[in-house]
Amino acid sequence: MDKIASQVFCGKFRKIIGLEVKSNQGGYRVNTFVDEILVLLLTKASAMYIDLQNDDTICALATAAGMGAVALIRVSGKLSHAIASEIFKAAKPDFSIEKVQSHKLYFGQILDDEGFVDEVLLSFFRAPHSYTGEDAIEISCHGSVYIQQRLLKLLMAKGARLAEAGEFTMRAFRNGRFDLAQAEAVADLIASQSKAAHSLAVKQMRGGFSDRIKQLRTQLIDFAALIELELDFGEEDVEFADRNRFMELLTELKAEIGKLMDSFQAGNAIKNGIPVAIIGKPNVGKSTLLNAILNEEKAIVSDIPGTTRDTIEDTIIIEGHAFRFIDTAGLRESDDVIENLGIERTYSKIKGASVILYVCDLMSWDNSSAEEMLHEFRDFIKDENKHFILIGNKADLISETPSHFPEMVELETVFISAKRKENINLITHSLLKVARAMTFNQDTIVSNARHYNALQKAFAALEAVEQGFAQNLPTDLATIDIRAALYHLGTITGQISNDEILGSIFSKFCIGK
Ligand code: GDP
Repeated sequence: MDKIASQVFCGKFRKIIGLEVKSNQGGYRVNTFVDEILVLLLTKASAMYIDLQNDDTICALATAAGMGAVALIRVSGKLSHAIASEIFKAAKPDFSIEKVQSHKLYFGQILDDEGFVDEVLLSFFRAPHSYTGEDAIEISCHGSVYIQQRLLKLLMAKGARLAEAGEFTMRAFRNGRFDLAQAEAVADLIASQSKAAHSLAVKQMRGGFSDRIKQLRTQLIDFAALIELELDFGEEDVEFADRNRFMELLTELKAEIGKLMDSFQAGNAIKNGIPVAIIGKPNVGKSTLLNAILNEEKAIVSDIPGTTRDTIEDTIIIEGHAFRFIDTAGLRESDDVIENLGIERTYSKIKGASVILYVCDLMSWDNSSAEEMLHEFRDFIKDENKHFILIGNKADLISETPSHFPEMVELETVFISAKRKENINLITHSLLKVARAMTFNQDTIVSNARHYNALQKAFAALEAVEQGFAQNLPTDLATIDIRAALYHLGTITGQISNDEILGSIFSKFCIGK
């Protein structure tokens, strides 16, 4: 594969040097190629800079900041074992740093210039068999903030420096311990709040998703190589790449990438909680229902400040699945002021929801309100990616609860009394059904917005290739789009990376990871 890649690259390089530009699209071609070279040079330069930084020995607190029973301090880099030999006095007299075994724990004391610091357990890792792929040590000390700080100061005095956010994982990536998508899964694993999010992160960490992307990319590279070879023959009218087979491949790749893109809604929902919107007219009992669900589940309620959300929402975990209840508080007022504006706001709020709970007050519900509702929300009711449930509330106020609304047999309907907390479990059962259906039959699920964006761009580039061939545009134009698709797929796993991409990914990690 390296051979093919270098062939492709050399072909392209000759064109850049020779500036084989004839047509009116020439300017664009030159710019694109020059840009690519610049990106390549910058990538190399940043890699060299990072390699220089990699020479440092880094240290950080790996456990949560603050007091705890124990704390763990990580040190990674060339000096780590030498530093250990200077500050650690093992309990066993025959201990020597040359003879330590990797992945073994040693008990002893940490001493600094002032004397005893703490009794600790020290573990040694020899390169390349450590998280970062470098020589490393981990110090388990008592969890006092004072001890943690004194230890870190001591490590720095001996030549280590404090690690940047995500630097341990960045080193692991750069040392080939895992690829970029797997590194990101580590962050997801740490952040996982539910069983479903946990298993998604574990799957990604084990490389299933990366393998899929790499396979897609390899298929495309094989064809790209043949097509670029054609360009090397310039005026001679040769076709090494079978166009029909290539069109088939494009269709297959687009279908695969499209499937992955489609899985993002589920992936995002699993990771951040399945978005549930509780909507309905004022005073039908929406707030009462939300409180009833929270109480019924004796839920772990947490506020997860989201990056894409402007509100903090109630998230609850039911049987390992997280549900995020979208705040619809603002809808009430707007309903009263200008009806149209109210509907618009309702729409924008529930657009992102996977589940819509439409609450109605059984006391005032009639045929015309049913028709109005069916009309107003017809798009969402029909939407296969949304689950619309009608909730007939205040059942305690009517003498006989119907089994369904005759005019809406098609719609899933649940009759409850939010106030008396009656039949709330029927709603949670429905929520769980939706959650299970989301993961059912999906072997690879995209849950990372960066991956989703890259897939979108790769998809668009493949579409451009397809259109180019359909319109018989010159082959060299197609190569630009093929390269773009390869580039975007490559950024997912880190086969293509630059400082900016890496910086934005790892800066989101915590220090010590
Ligand atoms: P929202 O405006 O839709 O959020 O409605 P609220 O939850 O604030 O409820 C409006 C009123 O209806 C309050 O007085 C609630 O106590 C009452 N309510 C809510 N659910 C029920 C119910 O199941 N039965 C009865 N009888 N009253 C309810």
